[in-house]
Amino acid sequence: MSLLADTDMTAPLMSLVGVGFGPANLSLALALKESGVDRGVMFMEMRNKFAWHPGMMLPKATMQISYLKDLATPRNPCSFFTFTNYLKQRGRLDRFINLQTFYPTRLEFNDYLEWAAAQVDDFVLYRTEVVGLEPVDLGTQRRIRVHYRGADGSTRWLDALNVSVATGHRPYVPSVAKASLGSSVFHASEFVDRIGQLEGRPALRFAIIGGGQSAAEIANCLYHCFPQSEISWYIKQFALQPMDDTPFVNELFSEWMIDHWFHSPSRHRRELLGSYRQANYAAVDAELIDDLYRGLYDDSVCGRSRLRIHNLSELVSAAVHDNCVRLVVKDLVEGSVTTSTVDVAVLATGYTKENYSHLLRNFDGYLERDDHGRYAVDRHYRIRTASASSANIFVLGCNEDTHGIGDSLLSNVATRADDVLRRVFAADRPARDGEDGLIASEDALEPALEVNRAAFSSYAAARPR
Ligand SMILES: Cc1cc2nc3c(=O)[nH]c(=O)nc-3n(C[C@H](O)[C@H](O)[C@H](O)COP(=O)(O)OP(=O)(O)OC[C@H]3O[C@@H](n4cnc5c(N)ncnc54)[C@H](O)[C@@H]3O)c2cc1C
Repeated sequence: MSLLADTDMTAPLMSLVGVGFGPANLSLALALKESGVDRGVMFMEMRNKFAWHPGMMLPKATMQISYLKDLATPRNPCSFFTFTNYLKQRGRLDRFINLQTFYPTRLEFNDYLEWAAAQVDDFVLYRTEVVGLEPVDLGTQRRIRVHYRGADGSTRWLDALNVSVATGHRPYVPSVAKASLGSSVFHASEFVDRIGQLEGRPALRFAIIGGGQSAAEIANCLYHCFPQSEISWYIKQFALQPMDDTPFVNELFSEWMIDHWFHSPSRHRRELLGSYRQANYAAVDAELIDDLYRGLYDDSVCGRSRLRIHNLSELVSAAVHDNCVRLVVKDLVEGSVTTSTVDVAVLATGYTKENYSHLLRNFDGYLERDDHGRYAVDRHYRIRTASASSANIFVLGCNEDTHGIGDSLLSNVATRADDVLRRVFAADRPARDGEDGLIASEDALEPALEVNRAAFSSYAAARPR
């Protein structure tokens, strides 16, 4: 069977299609809008409106990154789409300054993201799930066919010269808990919805599994919102580890670090990821650790212990019986197991790294892979192709191994958008017909796409460096 879909010159042709519309592709959409591009681009998002991790939108939870690393500032501090301008538009700039902080609440940052998404509403199809991508051969010009399911449930397709896949990460559920998932056992990503259903039930027994930031935020939330409850918190580590956000370590998340990372031998990258894991993974904001410790201490003064941390503990099984959850937990030092019964178990067990390979099934043998079997990505986030092709598939947010520890975060979304668009529009150097990765064969393109190219070239020339 041919790898390539039949050629259909009547298919609608897009310059760029974005799969998923979280902060990564939103930042790309804003850079396009800012450059004057107004047609030939479309972003498809399966949610019915823009939302940034709504299941973890906890009151008072703050950002883990400076607001200056917003969707635009590092790319262009003069952009209309900066967080500072959002504050100005909302009439809160003065008061935000008085807060004297770099770290807004997640609620406020989500409001900023929604505000930014509204500026590019004309680029986005919500309630639209991309179900697969497929290569199309048009002789000199290759396209990518994008199959999607629309709001009415029907499946359609269109063609694109460039596809930017930014589908985020999938919640990771340990295999021992999968069979019990439901209203009593659920992943942290569903926390807000599920916990809302428990209002009015004061004296509950909760278990939390996991020792990272989400687990700590959930423990803090349950502790304050359910004052009659008992909380058992199981962590694998000996103690909660503070997130290292000291300035020298924070340089790992800088834009210039991506080049260092990308051009380093894989042994060095692995060492960096190992040594500085605590800058991102299984670590908790130090201030939150202090708050939790203070709460535990104050309780002990009153002879209470509502929140118990069980360290060096691993979940063995979670089974639901008669509306209760029976947990079996192993002591990682002694190997002994204990059983406990709770009403609700929250799995704050993190996320899988990659959420897109199922979309690329039709590309076997066409896209290059690295020594570990992962798609091989160039510095501009484009998956390398086995043969020369003028169509590009970019993957964003899943390149920690090649682009650094900040890749899945907001750290570089703004400058990454610029990296991608430079590749799309080849603005850094003149296009040569047929050159790999460039939009070649200009007469094959619709005039609208050429307008975009010209618009982006002038934007790129004006961009502050
Ligand atoms: C609770 C929480 C707090 C965080 N806080 C921070 C923080 O403070 N600072 C920081 O730097 N990072 C933080 N992160 C990391 C987070 O990954 C980034 O903030 C950011 O969400 C990454 O953006 P993204 O666009 O790559 O992915 P996402 O935000 O996950 O967006 C992906 C989008 O793609 C959509 N999608 C998926 N598949 C399809 C498909 N087939 N078709 C159509 N649409 C699809 C999804 O519905 C989703 O809207 C946090 C993560 C979590 C879970």
